[in-house]
Amino acid sequence: MEIIHISAECYPVAKVGGLADVVGALPKYQNKLGHIAKVVVPAYDTKFIRESEFEVTYDAWANYGNHHFQYRILKERTNKLGFDLYVIHIQGLTDRPNVYGYGDDTERFVAFQIATLDWIVQWEHRPDVIHCHDHHTGLVPFMVANCIKYKPISSVPTVLTIHNAQYQGQFGWNKLYYLPAFDLWKGGLLGWDDAINPLASAIKCAWKVTTVSPTYLEEMMGNARGLESLLRQERWKSVGILNGIDNEVWDPATDPMLGKNYNIKTVEAGKLANKTALCNVFQLDPSKPLFTFIGRLVDEKGADILPDIFYTALQQHGDNINVLVLGSGDNWVEGRLNQLKDIFGGKYNVYIGYNEQVSHEMYAGADFLIMPSRVEPCGLNQLYALRYGTVPIVRRVGGLRDTVIDIGDNGFGICHDQTSIWDVTHSINRAVDFYNDKKAFKAVRKTMMKIDHSWDRAALNYIELYQNLK
Ligand code: ADP
Repeated sequence: MEIIHISAECYPVAKVGGLADVVGALPKYQNKLGHIAKVVVPAYDTKFIRESEFEVTYDAWANYGNHHFQYRILKERTNKLGFDLYVIHIQGLTDRPNVYGYGDDTERFVAFQIATLDWIVQWEHRPDVIHCHDHHTGLVPFMVANCIKYKPISSVPTVLTIHNAQYQGQFGWNKLYYLPAFDLWKGGLLGWDDAINPLASAIKCAWKVTTVSPTYLEEMMGNARGLESLLRQERWKSVGILNGIDNEVWDPATDPMLGKNYNIKTVEAGKLANKTALCNVFQLDPSKPLFTFIGRLVDEKGADILPDIFYTALQQHGDNINVLVLGSGDNWVEGRLNQLKDIFGGKYNVYIGYNEQVSHEMYAGADFLIMPSRVEPCGLNQLYALRYGTVPIVRRVGGLRDTVIDIGDNGFGICHDQTSIWDVTHSINRAVDFYNDKKAFKAVRKTMMKIDHSWDRAALNYIELYQNLK
């Protein structure tokens, strides 16, 4: 099958979160199964794009509404990613350092989607599936099925994967004219709650809807930022497929970002070497258990209660634990996390910002990774933690519920039910006891590292889903 993935993010081209990891891995594993999976993303001004070799495959003009723009499709030359990568350059719209966060994000992603479809519609052949990811590409299923100029590809099946329903990309009906012409009576397929809602539109128009874990699919029926009833209505065509991880990128035995590589046999020495190096950089004590958090500092991740959690835990455990945080997001949370450095220097540190290298070093050097998420569609951090022999401490929600089993149930993680300071500090107390039970702790590290969360299984699930599209 020929599968076209259209996305706003793709690792290592442009990454903000887990969406990039999925789009950077799933196509590779689909290709390994003998299919042809290609990826189309906007050409941002990122290091990867600046430093890679591209060839121009198509150059044309398009428009959203009466805005005329020139776009250029560039193909990565070396196939180093394991799939064909196409980036779409639209002068003044895509060529910016950040993926999101601009006042004209609507225009940027509408233009990107139109340019992508304008390009595909003039191919001599038809792809077998167009697979869209999240709201940034959510207008694609509607446009393919309904816009007059895309009639030649209107029978191509579209699939939507919801990586996070909290973000829906709404914009006003006054911008309806951005879209290419369609029969106006179909306009209802674009809207939800008085606005054009790309995610809702994709849920209505895609042939199949997938989410990134089975539990998240069920949770969305009751909590999806206003889309609950729509999701319940479209439940018949929805399925939860648990994400995998790219075992080639995330392998402690070969990871080039680690000071010391290790495998299941050398895990104790390997993790200690990485922990010591990390503790030296962040002025922490490698002889004490190291608790970490990696992620966006937003309420969804429970980041707002992190400062109080760490304050309470560090007060309670005195000099017996270390904490290291990597993340960026809410200014208020960043500020409070920074303040803790003054109170708990030598046992607490924080890196505010995005740093892929430090994240790998933390998965390898940490003893525990905390995820007190309120919403977690799949969560990749806990899967990376498992692969690197780091015990996840998670709230039982979404994909965390599907992937982490508590040590009390013969599992390998520490689980709690609420995103509350009490629940998480209680889990930290349990973790300290567990860390001191050296034999059990070592055994669990090995158990975790043996778990296979690679994309092989999930890539096949998606292929089966495509094959049954009707
Ligand atoms: P989400 O997509 O909701 O942010 P996921 O758990 O699905 O959460 O994916 C998060 C990904 O982003 C992981 O690969 C994680 O390591 C990475 N990440 C998040 N914040 C940072 C950061 N500040 N620096 C480096 N990597 C980060």
